[in-house]
Amino acid sequence: MSVYPPEPWRVKMVEPLRTTTREDREAALLAAGWNPCLLRSEDVYVDLFTDSGTNAMSDRQWSALMRGDEAYAGARSFYVFEQAVRAFYGYEHVIPVHQGRGGENILSRCLIRPGTHMPGNMYFPSTRAHQELNGATFHDVIVDEAHDPSSEHPFKGNVDLAKLRAVIARFGAESIPYVSLAATVNMAGGQPISVENLTETCALAHAHGIPVFLDTARAVENAWLVKQREPGRARSTVAEILRALCAPTDGAVMSAKKDSLANIGGWLALRDPALADQARGLALLYEGLHTYGGMAGRDMEAIAVGIAESVEENHIRARVAQVDYLATRLCRAGVPIVRPAGGHCVCVDAAAALPHVPRPEFPGQTLACAVYLEAGVRGVERGAVSAGRDPETGENRLPRLELLRLAIPRRVYTRAHMDLVADGVIAVHRDRDRIRCGLRFTCEPGQLRFFQARFEPTSGTTIFG
Ligand SMILES: *Cc1c(COP(=O)(O)O)cnc(C)c1O
Repeated sequence: MSVYPPEPWRVKMVEPLRTTTREDREAALLAAGWNPCLLRSEDVYVDLFTDSGTNAMSDRQWSALMRGDEAYAGARSFYVFEQAVRAFYGYEHVIPVHQGRGGENILSRCLIRPGTHMPGNMYFPSTRAHQELNGATFHDVIVDEAHDPSSEHPFKGNVDLAKLRAVIARFGAESIPYVSLAATVNMAGGQPISVENLTETCALAHAHGIPVFLDTARAVENAWLVKQREPGRARSTVAEILRALCAPTDGAVMSAKKDSLANIGGWLALRDPALADQARGLALLYEGLHTYGGMAGRDMEAIAVGIAESVEENHIRARVAQVDYLATRLCRAGVPIVRPAGGHCVCVDAAAALPHVPRPEFPGQTLACAVYLEAGVRGVERGAVSAGRDPETGENRLPRLELLRLAIPRRVYTRAHMDLVADGVIAVHRDRDRIRCGLRFTCEPGQLRFFQARFEPTSGTTIFG
């Protein structure tokens, strides 16, 4: 078994969980239209739907809430927050937003025009949705290994520079508003980008006058994986590597609901003062005044403390080790998962786990339902349902990765919870032949359809034979 270091915290407050019977879960899933996203949280025992906003805050963060300055303009809490972002991420201009997508909206509106092209290291649903809403076409320039669940490549978040060069050559630098990078790459299973590759990507883009913006939602986890895997980085601190990741980029969009150990919030960080002015203007319209951006003063205080805690080595080591523990247990039991384990989640390769469920019947969604029914554990599909339809052809996109993602909230669950998850997934995989069919839509929303879609089994009233 991989190392499970003792947590660098102890529990001070508990939140009771409700246990359910299989009959309870069958009724709940039916009411939710075979979409675990639509379950009520009280019907879920271990909730691995997301690591977003589900963090347990520390006693220091809770006490920081009391220091919140709720002044409409110029709150002290904003300056505390701004200083923390500047110190740890190294960007000069810090614009608070209510959460990451608020920053994506503003950045996309500032820079993207209809008919332009957006290269990125795979896509994130809300990021690409904002780019497409503003009229751009997305181009995936991630290394091929990212699409291969069994590849052990240590940096599956890396950009394939030849692919990026080809996009620039084909469309011209003037039709590329910016390169959109993420560290780590969520949709590939929390896979990191190396400092070297990120630096080279920025050099290539900058040589063509194209700026680069980084999605830093999980850049601390990325920094930890760099420390473990990238030659020459073992002796650097996570804080130093985080700065090195941000240094070559022109700005960042941040969801503080991830690495920053908060429950809400985010920022847009920029270097160019003119762009920052433009962005503050839009922030005013969509988020709130540029000194609160949709957050309460207390949220900004909690984030400032969370940022500092996030780069503490004891914290980040235990965080990633817990993810690795679950991955190792599943792997040893023969469950096909994306290798190597990422920073925040374990992704089960649903296409390999359920080869008898045809891709158009959504094996990832089907597996998510089976795992919930088995163990009361909620994961989320990351495959064809999440990928949506091609805006031009209207056809379903069929990404190579068809995954069930189990995302681990930070500082929330214990080793016993991880064992319950592993046992549940292993049992479903062992009895996979009992799953006889997949799912089809009964209701398919236009935007980010995976959140609100409803399904039914493709034959009969259940997916089981
Ligand atoms: C969560 C997330 C976002 C969007 O942030 P929200 O806070 O959910 O709006 C953007 N990019 C990545 C990689 C994310 O994980």
